[in-house]
Amino acid sequence: MTRFGIPQISTGDILRENIAKGTALGKAAKTLMDQGQLVPDEIVNDMVGARLSDSDVHAGYILDGFPRTLAQATWLDAQLPNFRDMPPLVAVNIRVDEAELLRRITGRRICPTCKRIYNIYSNPPLKDGVCDVDGTPLQHRSDDTEAAFVQRMKAYDSLTAPVIDHYRSSSRFREVDGTKPVEQVADSIVAALRSLRDHGGQS
Ligand code: AMP
Repeated sequence: MTRFGIPQISTGDILRENIAKGTALGKAAKTLMDQGQLVPDEIVNDMVGARLSDSDVHAGYILDGFPRTLAQATWLDAQLPNFRDMPPLVAVNIRVDEAELLRRITGRRICPTCKRIYNIYSNPPLKDGVCDVDGTPLQHRSDDTEAAFVQRMKAYDSLTAPVIDHYRSSSRFREVDGTKPVEQVADSIVAALRSLRDHGGQS
């Protein structure tokens, strides 16, 4: 995240990089991802474990899209004591209703060159289908279809929602309203992190 100068570790991005490179991991993950299903815990945990051993995570990091199951959350809990110098984990749930999620997902278009994200409904490019910054044709993720969305929501309800309950009882859990414009959501997250830093998770 640019505001803090720490890396964003997105398990979805790592999986898509593996698909683009044609690795065995990518091949195994692609069918599941296109169907809106989760990739097995062991694969994702190993991926995150490898990334957390890189030297750039020492000042902190943002896990994006992980943990997504209780098994991943318990695995992470067991790993954290290995990172003694790091500030303690903060879990942030960004709440968005299902109708808005569908609009964001089916309308999402990504520039493969600069990674900028557009939405054809709420934040369209100046010229249809083309990145404003570098003119690259925009891409539509193969799992950003309505059919995959329905499956992704099912996986969310049965496997990911329990992860929120896992963290909810912790004083280092926060929720923010994700329906607001992107800068406002980012500001709410930063405010939540600052209040935890200043009050040590006691509020
Ligand atoms: P995302 O980019 O976070 O929307 O993730 C895209 C897809 O990658 C998901 O629908 C899953 O198929 C897979 N994926 C990403 N993160 C995880 C995870 N933590 N556990 C299992 N599958 C994941």
